[in-house]
Amino acid sequence: MKKYIKTDPWKIIQDGFNKEDNEVYESLMSIGNGHMGMRGNLEEKFSGKSLKGTYVAGVYYPDKTRVGWWKNGYPEYFAKVLNSTDLIGINLTIDGTLIDLNDNEPIEFYRELDMEKGVLNRHYTLNISGKNFKINVSRFTSMQAVELGAIKYSIESLDDDANIKIESYLNGNVRNEDANYNDFFWEHIHTENTYITLKTKKLDFKVTSGMGNSINKKITSTVKQEDLFTSETFEYPLKASETLCLEKYFTVTTNRDYPDEKILNQAKKNITLAKEKGFDSLLKEHAMAWKNIWMNSDIKIEGDDLAQQGIRFNIFQLMQTYHGHDPRLNIGPKGFTGEKYGGSTYWDTEAYCLPFYLSTSDKKVPRSLLEYRYNHLEKAIENAEKLGLKGALYPMVTMNGEECHNEWEITFEEIHRNGAIAYAIYNYINYTGEKNYLNTKGLEVLLQISRFWADRVHYSESKNQYVMHGVTGPNEYENNVNNNWYTSKIAIWTLKYTLESMDYVKSIDSNSYQNLLDQINFELKETKKWLDIIENMYLGYDEERNIFLQQDGFLDKEQKIVKDIPKDELPLVKNWSWDMILRSPFIKQADVLQGMFLFEEEFTFEEMKSNFDYYEPRTVHESSLSPCIYSIIASSVGYEKRAYELYLRTSRLDLEDYNSDTDEGLHITSMAGTWMSIIYGFGKFRVRNNKIHLNPFIPNEWNAYEFKILFRDNLLDIRVTEDEVKIILEKGDNLPIVVGKKDYVLSKDQGLII
Ligand code: BGC
Repeated sequence: MKKYIKTDPWKIIQDGFNKEDNEVYESLMSIGNGHMGMRGNLEEKFSGKSLKGTYVAGVYYPDKTRVGWWKNGYPEYFAKVLNSTDLIGINLTIDGTLIDLNDNEPIEFYRELDMEKGVLNRHYTLNISGKNFKINVSRFTSMQAVELGAIKYSIESLDDDANIKIESYLNGNVRNEDANYNDFFWEHIHTENTYITLKTKKLDFKVTSGMGNSINKKITSTVKQEDLFTSETFEYPLKASETLCLEKYFTVTTNRDYPDEKILNQAKKNITLAKEKGFDSLLKEHAMAWKNIWMNSDIKIEGDDLAQQGIRFNIFQLMQTYHGHDPRLNIGPKGFTGEKYGGSTYWDTEAYCLPFYLSTSDKKVPRSLLEYRYNHLEKAIENAEKLGLKGALYPMVTMNGEECHNEWEITFEEIHRNGAIAYAIYNYINYTGEKNYLNTKGLEVLLQISRFWADRVHYSESKNQYVMHGVTGPNEYENNVNNNWYTSKIAIWTLKYTLESMDYVKSIDSNSYQNLLDQINFELKETKKWLDIIENMYLGYDEERNIFLQQDGFLDKEQKIVKDIPKDELPLVKNWSWDMILRSPFIKQADVLQGMFLFEEEFTFEEMKSNFDYYEPRTVHESSLSPCIYSIIASSVGYEKRAYELYLRTSRLDLEDYNSDTDEGLHITSMAGTWMSIIYGFGKFRVRNNKIHLNPFIPNEWNAYEFKILFRDNLLDIRVTEDEVKIILEKGDNLPIVVGKKDYVLSKDQGLII
């Protein structure tokens, strides 16, 4: 494995210029603030391998679907994460040479992503025709004023006079690498001074990108304006030992937030304000916002910097991607770090991200994630209808509620995603205690998802049981299977939970209950079939091995394990034909184990263990969503060493490029799984019957670890060492808690030591 970065508890450090791996570093050095974000592209010209990427939350492009063979039910388009106007560009010319860092390679180069303050810093030295220059660059996208970002760019002449030209620009002439027909997705509307307004060719998203520049010398600048490009150029005769310093402020405003006619003005206001405040005080505000975020979300690990850097990188990237300020947004698998995957919302949100936001953010944030799906319910009903089914089928991938994924074996068959959305409602209520979510919105979603499940199963005469055919489980390395255990399990669970929720809503508010049933034409006889399915659903089980069968016929596969695969054939997805992958026994990601994680209370220790023992050796973990779940189960069954190894894999998945795909962007959603592997895995944190349960262990490699949990109106600090667990209730009072099997009550600020 290649070592891309230096180990440090708070920083991601690149020491030395490495052109060949530029795209990996661009991903690792991505910054964002929930409203916009960008890959770690260099400000200067770089003609080498690079994936340019600047993204604006919620602004996407419905690219016309491209498939070899059209199937009824396919969506018309696939939403693309849209590469937007490049905001950071700075052309540097020294004595007439336009610096291209691909040709004019730096002598020493250092770059760090400072995760504590949320700043990307870089410095390097250049030798141009015998003269040496030191360049320093800092960049951030403000967490405090999310429409703003800033760059401080300085050049010092180390030993001689030189003529310096700095052209600070915005470039709207950008394309998506991921475009089905190579179309250009933008249309120019207006350029004025240093502001460009563009609109997407479809859907009419209007985006103004603007900049303002300040320089530390009294020089006049020239502004160039073209349709898709604007720049401001400064020229200065730099003396030896003198420094020229540019501060560039950039802003992005869109008609998602303001009426069309106001976006340009708002951009101008933002830039005026930014210039008034100046780089340093904007940075101070931004760092303060990060301080507040870290206060509730940091996990400290003592004695293992590799593990420490890993978890902070995961938390940092998640918080940069989504912090709940806009309920129309969601958490894309690549966030602001790449185009791959399109869409912004997968089942990843409910199955992985929700627990993270429940414990680290104000409860409005997880609630927004739930309401996002509630607001898409009508579209999910249309989606099911398109497939000829009743109820609601939420999309595999979406931007606005419509399905935009188009591989039949996933779009039509990877329907377990519906279950994750139902489970999230349970998870939210279990965690927050806000049962009233059921009578306002939750029950409606549950009823429609349950209707879908009841229609999607069928009765098998030969088995005398209900079965579910033609599905793809979480393991996408086999499609179109019958009776995927996980899908069937979550379907039955949804039916049960919906019935319980109906009883609850009826008992507390019979009027709104009846109104809801009338509104969706729900007849109580539908629930008779549900009860029958719950009683009589087929779930595959192998007695000899004491395992749940991932799907029909899984045991007929050639029984090889991952250790049998030559190392140079991994990852399979890059080295094997799809045909070989589909027929092999190798599992892409947690499937049966995903279900054991969600419904663990239903299983015995022995069952957990035997399923882990069987499935783990067959799992290649080629989805980033996999190692975290296996790590949690390994913790539950006492495989502490394996749990730690899998933790390192999940937390350093991108830092070490485990799946050889970091160049395309980071795996944002699985980062929440990394967080779970410490809190749910090592900490054994759960919420049961309105109480926090903990039963932590500490990996051998660590001296101590400490984490915070926001639970209802309480904030807990939990510190675990080899000898003790110390819990302090920093906010709240009289909180009952279970540690191990014992009950305690926490008082404010009083430490409980066990
Ligand atoms: C995984 C899916 C996941 C998607 C987005 C795929 O590789 O198999 O489970 O939803 O990536 O993260």
